[in-house]
Amino acid sequence: MSRYIGNKCKLCRREGMKLFLKGQRCFSEKCAVSRRDYPPGVHAQKRAKITDYGVRVREKQKLKRIYGVVERQFSLYFKEAERLKGNTGESLMSLLERRLDNVVLASGFALSRNHARQLINHGHFTVNGKWVDVVSYSVRPGDVVAPRQKENTRKMVNEAQEVNKSQTVPAWLEVNRNTLTSRVVAIPKREDVPHPIQEQLIIELCSK
Ligand code: SF4
Repeated sequence: MSRYIGNKCKLCRREGMKLFLKGQRCFSEKCAVSRRDYPPGVHAQKRAKITDYGVRVREKQKLKRIYGVVERQFSLYFKEAERLKGNTGESLMSLLERRLDNVVLASGFALSRNHARQLINHGHFTVNGKWVDVVSYSVRPGDVVAPRQKENTRKMVNEAQEVNKSQTVPAWLEVNRNTLTSRVVAIPKREDVPHPIQEQLIIELCSK
């Protein structure tokens, strides 16, 4: 599956907000948004006023960039959210939140979303004791996500946990730091999603 491999800080600067794509660096004074709070590019500061349509496009881009999904994957998530009962925006956020790479990151088992994806891709994680190397795997209540019982895997995850020890774990996950397990105790609700996204704007854009 394709993914963006360019400069991540440029994505944040383009969106004018921190998307938290680089782990602890995002909380330090080295963060590019803190140092250069304007869009990248030579003519970026001369750009014309953004239209209502542009505002909606940017909101969608922000969401895609936070979760690291490309347009095709995003369309599939949107179709699935429309198919589900209830509020489409909330379903969309919930589906994205339930991705395995997000669970690994939110549980404090990785340093950044990219690190979580790399660990999963390299076969370091299991779901319910079975090896899963698909970053978009969608977890369900009752699932238990854990690193494999290999020395180097446990070492990497322990190190990440140490760095993330002050991180708040969302209410829909139950993390045991001693056994290195993360149990999904509920479907994430909108209030569990920490990102300041106005999903209604995305719905207005994509429902046309
Ligand atoms: Fe974005 Fe993090 Fe780079 Fe800051 S350090 S610009 S939050 S990716």
